[in-house]
Amino acid sequence: MISHPILWESGVYLPEQHLWLDPRQPRPRAVISHAHSDHVADHPLAYATPATRRLVTHRRRRPLVGTVEAVPYGESIALERCDVTFYPAGHVLGSAQTLVDTDFGRILYTGDLKTRAGFTSSPAQPVPADVLVLESTFGKPRYRFPDAAEVIAAMVSWCRSVLDGGATPVLLGYSLGKGQEILSALAAASLTIALHPSSFGVTEVYRELGCDFPPYQRLGEAGARPAVVIMPPSARRDRFADQLGVFKTAAMTGWAMDASLKDRLEVDAVFPLSDHADFEELCCYAEQVGASMTYTVLGFDEELAMHLRRRGLRGRTTRCAVRRSRDKEVTHGDQEEGHEEGQEGDP
Ligand SMILES: [Zn+2]
Repeated sequence: MISHPILWESGVYLPEQHLWLDPRQPRPRAVISHAHSDHVADHPLAYATPATRRLVTHRRRRPLVGTVEAVPYGESIALERCDVTFYPAGHVLGSAQTLVDTDFGRILYTGDLKTRAGFTSSPAQPVPADVLVLESTFGKPRYRFPDAAEVIAAMVSWCRSVLDGGATPVLLGYSLGKGQEILSALAAASLTIALHPSSFGVTEVYRELGCDFPPYQRLGEAGARPAVVIMPPSARRDRFADQLGVFKTAAMTGWAMDASLKDRLEVDAVFPLSDHADFEELCCYAEQVGASMTYTVLGFDEELAMHLRRRGLRGRTTRCAVRRSRDKEVTHGDQEEGHEEGQEGDP
């Protein structure tokens, strides 16, 4: 491989291809890997999967300013100096890994990634590439998630015990993605389920896009009681909380692996149900992609890069690229390691 200029400029930036990947600010030409708001901005021209485009349109209070071109999984779109192809990322419905095929090799950007099977989106499979740009949200060894079936069983058991005590169990998860995973996880439990309006709206779009769910009602509408409530964490203190009577809350998140999370969030329970890959899954994924260089981005990027190097891969963060981009320099995929190796002895 010759070289791959990769910068960080509001997101991953490939200057030779004039293409930004998940920039937080508007950029001339961008990929939107999925519909979570921190990955979406008003770009003049953007590419996304059809489901992501639909979900972005649903969630925006105002229409997008630019054009979002829908590109289905597995179909390549030819841009000047590269071809772009999306593959399932397993994170939320429509989420995509982005393969950018250039004259110099294949660059794979994972976006937010989940490799184990969920209910509502196909798990990410490794895509062979020369350069991997890997999200690092849970890139620390302490983040090893238990078996999802065990987590779900514990969550259902907690819901039943709260109901038996005369209170309403409230499961907290983001309205896009986590809410639908929680709803699906409750399918076999035969509980009456109510969704906060923001979760309800996204779930209706998921259904429109072909997902099946157990019966649910909209929180605030008349219906059978008692109900398990699914709502985004941000809604805990809004007017809907007043309709719940006595309730207990549980947070559904990979951060539940942190012993302090329950107190920090002021919830009654936490369950480690994540829509990201855990540490071991990230490492195994990087090994399977087989890239000659892995750049870690976001989250615990330094720790993950260090562990990848310990496992024999070439890995580094994009932080050096940030500094260099400010100096109008570039980072090349074939000129790494060196000073970064000094971190090998870190805990
Ligand atoms: Zn996300």
